[in-house]
Amino acid sequence: MTEYDQNRILSRQQERFDRKGISLTAKMLRQIRELTHMPASLEPFLNTLEQIFALRRDVQRPRGVPTIGTYCVMVPPEIIYAQGAMPVKLCSGSYTAFGIGDDKAPRDACPLVKAVMGFEEIDIMPVYQNCALMAIPVTCDCKKKLAGWLLERRPTSILHVPSNRESDADMEQFTEELYSFSRQLSRITGIELTYSNLVKACRMTSDAQVQLSRFISLRRKHPLIIKGTFSMAVMNAISYTWLPDWTRQLSDLNDELEVLIQKKEMAVKENQPRILLTGSPVVFPNFKLPLLIESMGGLLGADETCMGERGFYDPPAVVDQTIDGMMRAFSNRSTRPCTCPTFTDNDRRIYRIRQLIRDYRIQGVVYHVLRGCLVYDYEYAALEEEMGKLGIPIIRVETDYNEEDVEQLRIRIEAFIELIKYKI
Ligand code: SF4
Ligand code: SF4
Repeated sequence: MTEYDQNRILSRQQERFDRKGISLTAKMLRQIRELTHMPASLEPFLNTLEQIFALRRDVQRPRGVPTIGTYCVMVPPEIIYAQGAMPVKLCSGSYTAFGIGDDKAPRDACPLVKAVMGFEEIDIMPVYQNCALMAIPVTCDCKKKLAGWLLERRPTSILHVPSNRESDADMEQFTEELYSFSRQLSRITGIELTYSNLVKACRMTSDAQVQLSRFISLRRKHPLIIKGTFSMAVMNAISYTWLPDWTRQLSDLNDELEVLIQKKEMAVKENQPRILLTGSPVVFPNFKLPLLIESMGGLLGADETCMGERGFYDPPAVVDQTIDGMMRAFSNRSTRPCTCPTFTDNDRRIYRIRQLIRDYRIQGVVYHVLRGCLVYDYEYAALEEEMGKLGIPIIRVETDYNEEDVEQLRIRIEAFIELIKYKI
C-alpha cells in the first residue's frame, strides 16, 4: 500500500471517529445525566469524561508534568507521581476505536484491547498520543500481545506480573519489575526515586483514599443514597484527573451526600432490586450495562470491577520506612489483595463478592464477560455455584463494543430484575 493510500485510510478513520465516536460519547453522557437524582457534585467527573472523549482534550495537570499511560491497576500510581509524572489509565471502552482496532487484532481478541489499538492507529486522541511512556503489566494473553504491539510503536515499559502471588520469590520478582519501571521513568522526567518524593506521593494517594473510603462507607450505610452508574463515573474519571483535583471533587460529593442523608432524600426506593456488577472491566464510554440496570428499575448497589472502587481502594502497607520497603509495599498491594482472575489462585474474589453482597445488601449479581475475555469467563462457573449456595440469582451477560446487543441485553436484564422482585 502506498503512503498516499495509508493517509487516505487514516483520514477516513479519523473522520469516522469524529462522527460516530464523539456522538456515542455524548449519548452515553446524556443518558447518565438523564438518570434521576444525579447529585450536583457529580458534574465535574462527567465534565472530565466529556473533555477527554467528546472534546478530545488532554488531561489537565500542572505545567510541564508528563503523562504515563497505564494499562492496569497493577501499576502503582505512587511511583509515577513521585517521579514527577501523572498516570492516565488507558484501557479503553470506545466502540468506534474498537471498530478500527478490529481490523488489526485477531477476531477473538477482547474489545478492550482492540479499542486501545484503534486509538493508537487513529492518532487523534491527545490523552493517548501525548503519553511519554506506556506501562503495561502482562496479565492475560491479550495484554501480552498488546504490550508487544505497543513496544514497536512507543516507549513502553512491560511489567511481568507473577501468575501466583503467595511466595516471597514472586513478590521479589514483581518488586524488581517496579524498579525497572522506575528507572525508565527517571530517564523521562529526570527525577530519581527518593524516600521523600515517595512519601509526598503516598500522601497524595492516601488523601484520595480517605475520601474514597468516606464515599464507600456512606454507600455501605445508606445503599440507596446514590446510583451505581454515578459511582462508576466517579471511579472512571480518576483515570484522567490530577489526583488532588479528584480528591477535592470527591470530598464535595461526599459533603452533598451527607446533606442528602440528613434530609432523608434517597436516590432510589427501598423496593428496587439491588444488583452487584462484576466481571470484565466497564470502561467509559461503554456504560451500557450500568445504564441498562438502572434504567430498568434496578439499583447498581455495588461493583466489583477494576474500573470501580477496587481499582483504588487498597493503600500500601509500609512496614519498612525505606525506598525498598515502600517498593515492596507497592508490589504487595498491587498483587496480593487483587481479585483479578488473571492470577491462578483466586479464592479471594469469591470471598470479596460475598463481602460486597453482605455489606451492600445485594439481591442479584450481573456477571459481565467481554467477548474474548477468557479469564473472567473461566471464573463464572465457580461464582455461579457459590451464588446458588447463597440463594442469590446471578446472570452471565456477554457483551461486545457495539450497540447492536443493547435490545437483547435490555430484555434479559429486565427479566432478571423482575425475577429478583418476584423473589423478594
Ligand atoms: S481486569 Fe485485571 S488485568 Fe485487566 S486491567 Fe483489570 S486488574 Fe488489570
Ligand atoms: S483481562 Fe479480559 S478485558 Fe482485560 S485485557 Fe485481558 S481479556 Fe481483555
